[in-house]
Amino acid sequence: MNQEIKKIDKLLVKYFDIPKRNLNPPPPIDMLIATILSQNTNDNNSYKAYINLKEKYKKWEEILNVEREEIEEVIKIAGLGKQKSAAIKNVINELHKKFGKINLDFINELTDNDAVSELICFPGVGVKTASCVLLFSLGKDICPVDTHVHRTLNRIGIVKTNSPDKTFEAINKNFPKGIAHQFHTNLIKLGREICKPAKPACSICPLVKICKYDEKNFEKRTKSRIDALLLLDNI
Ligand code: SF4
Repeated sequence: MNQEIKKIDKLLVKYFDIPKRNLNPPPPIDMLIATILSQNTNDNNSYKAYINLKEKYKKWEEILNVEREEIEEVIKIAGLGKQKSAAIKNVINELHKKFGKINLDFINELTDNDAVSELICFPGVGVKTASCVLLFSLGKDICPVDTHVHRTLNRIGIVKTNSPDKTFEAINKNFPKGIAHQFHTNLIKLGREICKPAKPACSICPLVKICKYDEKNFEKRTKSRIDALLLLDNI
């Protein structure tokens, strides 16, 4: 699988280029909160919700003393306000209770597996969210799997799995060094722009020659680039 991942990566980089990284990423606690906000919504709305939150509360400690409903109101543009505000408030309360401070920097000292296990103990934080914190905040060699990454890798034939968490487990056992960020980001672009859920645009896909999907769609499509905001490299 390692070689296949490298091959796909090469083709994706040729088509999309190496995505820009945030050279000054925020600390893990900020990334965790931004990723919670990004669940089940688009990056523009989660970005606005994150900015609303940062403007309203200058320090995460301030959230200790506010009602969950107030947070829900501040982040409502991101949707699922009740669920997300509860998850954010819980992370902040738990960290304060356990360590006396709102800080997740200690996960940098753990192995990737231990760091993911630690983060998914918080209600509302799953494997995808935890691995995004490791990749985007701490620059670890770990490839988060969201719905786009899961769908595209199954269609290409790299994995045969029935959930993003199983895909994550399969590809991260022996992931090639140094390419997790570009592979993850370019697969999301592929999933958003070309390998869409209903009608993949196989006629313009850079992976068409190696993809094993047996329901390819060759309707004529012109290339169009979306260049949408990618939240986790922009906070
Ligand atoms: S060839 Fe078609 S199904 Fe395969 S990855 Fe490309 S768009 Fe998706």
